[in-house]
Amino acid sequence: MGQEALHREVVILGSGPAGLTAAIYAARANLRPLVIEGPQPGGQLMITTEVENYPGFSKGIQGPELMEEFREQARRFGTEFLTTQITRVDLSRRPFKLYGKDHDESERLIESETLIIASGASAKWLGVPGEAPYPQGLGGFGVSACATCDGFFFKGKHVVVVGGGDTAMEEANFLTRYASQVTVIHRRDTLRASKIMQEKAFKNEKIKFIWDTEVVEILGSAPSPGVTGVRLRNRKTGEERIFACEGVFVAIGHQPNTELFKGQLEMDEVGYLITSGRSMATNVPGVFACGDVQDSFYRQAVTAAGTGCMAAIDAERFLDNLPVPMPDGEEITIEGEHVTPDREKIILPTGDVISNRAEEVSTSD
Ligand code: NDP
Repeated sequence: MGQEALHREVVILGSGPAGLTAAIYAARANLRPLVIEGPQPGGQLMITTEVENYPGFSKGIQGPELMEEFREQARRFGTEFLTTQITRVDLSRRPFKLYGKDHDESERLIESETLIIASGASAKWLGVPGEAPYPQGLGGFGVSACATCDGFFFKGKHVVVVGGGDTAMEEANFLTRYASQVTVIHRRDTLRASKIMQEKAFKNEKIKFIWDTEVVEILGSAPSPGVTGVRLRNRKTGEERIFACEGVFVAIGHQPNTELFKGQLEMDEVGYLITSGRSMATNVPGVFACGDVQDSFYRQAVTAAGTGCMAAIDAERFLDNLPVPMPDGEEITIEGEHVTPDREKIILPTGDVISNRAEEVSTSD
């Protein structure tokens, strides 16, 4: 090991809205959290331009500026930041161990009594010319992966949505609020989306479909006029053509950043971490998850921040030896007491079982 091991009560992995909100709460609870930042500090908002739906900013705010505010607020209450690439974790016992590699290639060991995972999810991209963020491509000038974030900027415009799953149908439907026309471009001739989402899209007169077709290039120039079209290739005939449009929404799925936790934490088939539902606890007592790493559905900065707050409060309760609800319905304390899902019994670490019922207390004598 290059440096001496760091030991903390709370380590937060990730510095997007979820991680930094967890840091603000943990810091204000005097837990001196350590936030570990990876290759994209600040998360997805760092590659977003105008954020108009984050409450409290009536005039909107730039994504990077919003994250700077989060960061300053976390720092003000004593949050520490560390940039290192975590390459391996050991969650088999407490303190949990995180192994990292710093910029200068030196190795790091971080130990923590609780871990809050806020490593986010990344939108999948097509990898075609013109798609990368400006200045390499048109990203931010007509190319987006989030209709809720950017749809508003396409009033009266013709946009395309790439993909055939639920996300693509939802994005297409949402975009018809603003766009004059939405064309879904899908690489096959049947959709992967659920029946109800397909029907909604088929019924919407503003939505058209182009089947068996892939986008091979996004055309235009930034900053002005932005996207002007896409080059399409028919997968059956090989024929290429240019299709005019003013915006491209890539909706081919998201990948949660959970590679590190495979085999150690419960996740769904895509890789999203499973949390309790009544808390942000994962299946390992003392490990919590918040934000997009455990949410394939809402994926908003404000919901990520909300779950970050919850994860910090859960970690605080856990460190205070209070019971925290687990995904299987039990409640567990840091000392290993298990409260049964019906809350009737407490199973002690020794295996002894005692009642969890409040004793009647006599006040007469
Ligand atoms: P999916 O993996 O379900 O769908 C991805 C779509 O993108 C597929 O149609 C796929 O094509 C296409 N695709 C993937 N890679 C490429 C590529 N390189 N080029 C072109 N097309 C590509 O992801 P979603 O994000 O749509 O959904 C993820 C999960 O979230 C699902 O379980 C979904 O049900 C759920 N969800 C539910 C919602 C709801 O109920 N309202 C809303 C959003 C998501 P192909 O079909 O050929 O593989």
